[in-house]
Amino acid sequence: MSYDPDNIFAKILKGELPCHKVYEDEIALVMMDIFPQSRGHTLIIPKAASRNLLDADPAALAAVMPLVQRVARALKTATGADGLRLVQFNEAPAGQTVFHLHFHVIPIYDGVPLGAHAGSKADDAELAVLAKDIAAAL
Ligand code: 5GP
Repeated sequence: MSYDPDNIFAKILKGELPCHKVYEDEIALVMMDIFPQSRGHTLIIPKAASRNLLDADPAALAAVMPLVQRVARALKTATGADGLRLVQFNEAPAGQTVFHLHFHVIPIYDGVPLGAHAGSKADDAELAVLAKDIAAAL
């Protein structure tokens, strides 16, 4: 399968669609998931174009992983989460719904079950506050 340059994350990367941005550099964009599975669910989107892990350039993967770690640490500080889950889906049968490579960092809170993947939309004001808090902890 080939990369579709009109996918929703490509449009967000180009600034054609809005997002609750946490951080951006030449390697990646970090933003809040608008259908979070828990409070603080964050996405790291490498700027290099690939559908997912399977067609990604190894150099792009190597470049983005330190940022994934930074975001995970900041997220734990900002949300007070008890743990974090790092998730990445490859192709629709595995649960992928947006076909531009991205990493989910999902806070886990003791005793709180995770919501459904790509479930219900979060409140924009709450996402804006979270994006600011996570950015401050980066
Ligand atoms: P995937 O299933 O491809 O691994 O994950 C796509 C993620 O993107 C889902 O968790 C879904 O909630 C999230 N998502 C879908 N559309 C948008 C959007 O327009 N903006 C943001 N910030 N997240 C989105």
